Amino acid sequence: MSAGPTSGVHKTAPAGQQKKRPATRKSADGAGAPAAGRSSATTLAERRLARLGLHEPADFIVHLPLRYEDETRIVPIASVVPGVAAQIEGEVIRSEVEFRPRRQLHALVQDENGDQLALRWLHFYPSQQKQLAVGNRVRVRGEVRSGFGGCEMVHPKVSAGGRPLATALTPVYSTTDGLSQISLRKAIDTALERADLSDTLPQDVCSQYGLIPFRQAIRVLHHPPADVSCADLAEREHPAWLRIKFDELLAQQLSLAAARAARRRQQARPLANVEHVLLQRLRASLPFTLTAAQARVIDEISADLSRSFPMHRLLQGDVGSGKTIVAAFAAAQAIASGSQAAIMAPTEILAEQHFSKLSAWLQPLGVNVAWLAGSLAGKARKATMTAAKSGQAQLVVGTQALIQDKVEFSSLGLVILDEQHRFGVGQRLQLNRKGEENTGRQAYIPHQLNMSATPIPRTLAMTFFADLDVSVIDELPPGRSPVLTKLIADSRRPEVLASVAAEVRQGRQAYWVCPLVEESEALQLQTAVDTHERLAAALPDVRIGLIHGKLPANEKQAVMKRFRDGDTDVLVATTVIEVGVDVSNASLMIIEHAERFGLAQLHQLRGRVGRGSQESICVLMYQAPLSMIARQRLRAMYETTDGFEIARRDLEQRGPGEFLGVRQSGQELLRFASLETDARLVAQAREAAATLRDHYPEHAQAHLQRWMRGRQDFLRS
Ligand code: ADP
Ligand code: MG
Repeated sequence: MSAGPTSGVHKTAPAGQQKKRPATRKSADGAGAPAAGRSSATTLAERRLARLGLHEPADFIVHLPLRYEDETRIVPIASVVPGVAAQIEGEVIRSEVEFRPRRQLHALVQDENGDQLALRWLHFYPSQQKQLAVGNRVRVRGEVRSGFGGCEMVHPKVSAGGRPLATALTPVYSTTDGLSQISLRKAIDTALERADLSDTLPQDVCSQYGLIPFRQAIRVLHHPPADVSCADLAEREHPAWLRIKFDELLAQQLSLAAARAARRRQQARPLANVEHVLLQRLRASLPFTLTAAQARVIDEISADLSRSFPMHRLLQGDVGSGKTIVAAFAAAQAIASGSQAAIMAPTEILAEQHFSKLSAWLQPLGVNVAWLAGSLAGKARKATMTAAKSGQAQLVVGTQALIQDKVEFSSLGLVILDEQHRFGVGQRLQLNRKGEENTGRQAYIPHQLNMSATPIPRTLAMTFFADLDVSVIDELPPGRSPVLTKLIADSRRPEVLASVAAEVRQGRQAYWVCPLVEESEALQLQTAVDTHERLAAALPDVRIGLIHGKLPANEKQAVMKRFRDGDTDVLVATTVIEVGVDVSNASLMIIEHAERFGLAQLHQLRGRVGRGSQESICVLMYQAPLSMIARQRLRAMYETTDGFEIARRDLEQRGPGEFLGVRQSGQELLRFASLETDARLVAQAREAAATLRDHYPEHAQAHLQRWMRGRQDFLRS
């Protein structure tokens, strides 16, 4: 997540130290069952609870039920409905073990109205048989299904009849192996007794947003009264849920605002030399005129760079919108101000392409551009390292290799991450540290520019990215015509081959993207090799290249160079070409088994064409039959080329994880609220966060304490 790279992480207490705090607090409040501290979870039960993240009472109270069982009422057997859980009570009038089709226990229960319901067990204990002896009065709970002779319950829960009914719904919690619902319920109830349930919101904030007290919300959610609306609970629309979701979102807003404030207290080198001749000459030397959007974002970035606290900006622009030149201007400003700049790309192909573009733009103006990637070895590697350390290299372009510990800079003022969502949080942090250096007593943090073609939907921008300023290039360079997208069934492959041949005859180039084989890299490679062979056989007059992730770096470069130079016509590729690759003469993109790719990925792939002035086509080949989801995805691709719209649909289909790179960070972001359905709450929480900061700082503190405990990722971001 982008909140991560905000520097300053290194300034907070080391993780170990932070982690100890709850443990100490725990030992102070005694050794109660649910209060086991992180390091002192000794009993088996405590260890199991700890596995659920339950250490202190404060953790237990927000371990909210997944669902509820209604044991508050008994329904007449006549009114049970298949597919719905019910609780009935009656007398066992038949009970026998049958052996056909297999050994099973059958019982028949009859209620006061004389209606009967069949019960069935495929596995059972003698004790259950005893409980179901004819004449016993039993209470039975389970899901009703329609069986052979009417309704039945399979493996229902049975207890003695005649006892008083529950007065609240029975919570069902997510649990872990070896921890029963009953023990977990007990532990949570104990915690509810001792936890601090006081309100962290001032009364007027509660009234303004119609929020019920925290204590009430927590109690209702753990033990909903019998008359509660089950639908509201299930949909998380009950006032108790609204309060909890609001609190969670508010905590998030508060912590991001705190992170923002912390960033402003950090020191960065001001890179203010905007009148420098280097910038003027760069502008004059471009073979094209900047679009208005590019000029605007260059100014926004330039203003940030001249400040003495670190920039933390996301440059968002759809594929092909021209982000690289914007990066070049930012780098030039850093260099003009006497600092170094670094640009990092997620793949070597892309980094290499940046290196050649940036060198072409900047080297003639006297800038020393150095290259560093994993494949660079021996003398060349050493030379780059030395040049970076001495400051002779003014711009270093590379891959992840740039963040290796051994690479040192003399004065790194600006770090640019292209396709930032491809990098893990840890990697981004590491790069940030590169610029940290001690000049006297002052530690400088480099300015940071993240670039991405994956647009962040509005709700996300308002939440996770609150400490990120966003610049948007909302305009494509002139003369581009939108890519025409065609959906073609795999069975029409000959037509597709013919269109590739026709395109090549006109002097254009094409990409042929191999089917994705997620399960196995070896298989993926094999597929690429096979595809290349089949195409070469089908199109003997066409020059066909092959690129995939397993090629050695220098071969990859050579393949890309041949394609860029027009020495190959068709490039068979795996998704290694997914991001950033820019060859404007390529006007046809074929994606095999398009149904296997995600929306964002398809959009990126399609973005490889339509970069020149000629009409471009993207063919999505699919294998019928399509799943619902795949059908929706392909339809979305067909219906729009707008990256924002695609991102919106992607968010709908997949949830926010993809945008945030949380898969990598492993951090669960929101437990209760949902960015898709709670947009209104997000807006309210944002507003309330400002109110709390301005008027109720102590409440804000208490609120963060309650919600962000143990989640240092948030606190430190
Ligand atoms: P992306 O935003 O996808 O990274 P690039 O920076 O790769 O886009 O730019 C795409 C192509 O458009 C490149 O060939 C680049 O040189 C060209 N380009 C960038 N800006 C302009 C412009 N203002 N006018 C014309 N072409 C441009
Ligand atoms: Mg790019």
